[in-house]
Amino acid sequence: MVETQLIPRGIKDKRVIEAMLKVPRHLFVREQDLYRAYDDMALPIGEGQTISQPYMVAKMTELLELKGDEKVLEVGTGSGYQAAVLGELAREVYSVERIESLARRAQEIIKKLGYDNVHIFTGDGSLGLQEHAPFDRIIVTAASPEVPKPLREQLSEGGILVAPVGSRFSQQLVRLCKRGNRFEEDYSTLCVFVPLIGAYGWED
Ligand code: SAH
Repeated sequence: MVETQLIPRGIKDKRVIEAMLKVPRHLFVREQDLYRAYDDMALPIGEGQTISQPYMVAKMTELLELKGDEKVLEVGTGSGYQAAVLGELAREVYSVERIESLARRAQEIIKKLGYDNVHIFTGDGSLGLQEHAPFDRIIVTAASPEVPKPLREQLSEGGILVAPVGSRFSQQLVRLCKRGNRFEEDYSTLCVFVPLIGAYGWED
């Protein structure tokens, strides 16, 4: 996966590559999908949701420019795979999932793998996680019409946010850096994510 999908497409951050080599993706997919756990695609994880394509996980993680001391918020835990990758690369990871059964399953795997720095919550992540804010990095793995206002507010000064923004079926993956009251957008590429359902996302 790393040699055929990530490096040829330009993933360069050595720490990201190491994390992608280390985290056992097959533990985060359903049993019937084991044979394609490392294939170049998103896979269903139940409840109409998906575990993102490996390249997308690596690309979003690389865009966060993690050095190891950051407090990160992830919106959309899903399988917990992205959270585990972040757990390898950041100090603390707070991940919010709106579907309780997914949050519970992700929590079990994360615990089994020993990621004491990854904390999973059930709720509407479009509201952020005020009690643990501010965050040095925010990653949103479900798409919304705009970057939710609470997430902008809960980002630290100099912090980086990566999120898919656009229509329900097609979006731009954008990176924003917070500088005072301004957000500088310095990266954007086409992507397709499942919808963010919540107060600052789409209606169910
Ligand atoms: N990062 C995940 C991919 C998850 S897909 C992984 O590595 O597997 C996006 C997830 O966002 C879905 O599980 C969906 O239920 C969740 N989601 C959608 N709206 C949400 C919201 N408002 N708050 C939290 N999670 C949400």
